[in-house]
Amino acid sequence: MTAVNFVLRHGELKDLAAKVEAGARLTEADALRLFETRDLNGLGLLASHADRRRNGARASYIVNRYLNYSNYCILSCQFCAFSRKKRDADGFELSAEQMVAKAREALAIGITELHIVGGLHPSLPFSYYTGFLRALRELDPRLQLKCFTAIEILHLAWLARKSVRDTLTELRDAGLASLTGGGAEIFRKEVRSQIATGKESAAEYLDVHRTWHQLGGRSTCTMLYGHVETLADRVDHLRHLRGLQDETHGFTGFIPLPFQPDNNRIPVSHAPTGQDLLRTIAVARLYLDNFDHVTAYWVGMGLRMAQVALNYGADDLHGTIIEEHIFHMAGAKSPQQQAERDLVKAIREAGRIPVQRDTFYQPLKVWEATDTGVTPDSGAGGDASRERTDATESATRATAPEA
Ligand code: SF4
Repeated sequence: MTAVNFVLRHGELKDLAAKVEAGARLTEADALRLFETRDLNGLGLLASHADRRRNGARASYIVNRYLNYSNYCILSCQFCAFSRKKRDADGFELSAEQMVAKAREALAIGITELHIVGGLHPSLPFSYYTGFLRALRELDPRLQLKCFTAIEILHLAWLARKSVRDTLTELRDAGLASLTGGGAEIFRKEVRSQIATGKESAAEYLDVHRTWHQLGGRSTCTMLYGHVETLADRVDHLRHLRGLQDETHGFTGFIPLPFQPDNNRIPVSHAPTGQDLLRTIAVARLYLDNFDHVTAYWVGMGLRMAQVALNYGADDLHGTIIEEHIFHMAGAKSPQQQAERDLVKAIREAGRIPVQRDTFYQPLKVWEATDTGVTPDSGAGGDASRERTDATESATRATAPEA
């Protein structure tokens, strides 16, 4: 008897297991039951089953670099340890030239994506943003620019005195390839006002992504969990994301973000437990039945826990990242970057086939069992990125949305 069959026949979750097995959609009440179950292993088996049915044995990672253009922000979200005011000594803003220099260094180690976000800067003009996008695109047109959260888009629309649609169109024309999923936090208003006063509403977040999807773009989405929200709030959050995905099919993946407790004004002193990390991944995999990918974000979970999550419903480890500030300023204990070889090793040890992917989760390299091509001193990118063939690069360009 397979493990899933065991859950189907004997476990506390046997009725939900039957629904999953039959491909029936889970309700919000079902999702809440999954969050509350004491049978974490049964839940993990089901989620892993749903993941393998969709993604097979493959699990992915991306060779990317994070880049924050500025930490100045006109808002003061209670959970945020990243933002600074102009009076603060450790505030910063980068010029387009400085961003290009950082991108050039990262290209040398094989990144395929720059992930760019920042605070809501009080005075930089709209042309600053289109300017750095153009400069980065000129540096290497194949570099995929995944930039901006929904609240940044609203801020830029206000700066540009344009509609969200026109703002997104202009950013796309300057080089924006994908929106990031950051800033979703928890959608329910009562929670949002406790952790992120002044931030956009759930409807505004979803509408920015809806508009981007209608323009032919793709994006990821997130949920910041493990602070003052209830499990029902998490389910409500996932319900909104599943609803928009039904409408647009524009989300490439879901990335749950565990809360980090340091240097902020939220009265919660610890990050989510290991149990909570795994069950959140697993419930997301089972409830978000219209999403292809669920990411175990090693920055917030640690690589060891993220590796375990690859058998609890996750099929992606995110990326090499190289320079992460937002989670680390809030107390994340993970390193600033992961070498590609360590991501490959973690995926392999979890019993899965490592795949280097691009921004849109398209495969760039599949690591066969005998393939040991990442050399010990190859840095974050490693040899795999440099060894991509022209054919693979052409395929990448062909599969990226026109955005
Ligand atoms: S979370 Fe974003 S919008 Fe909120 S204060 Fe921090 S940088 Fe600003």
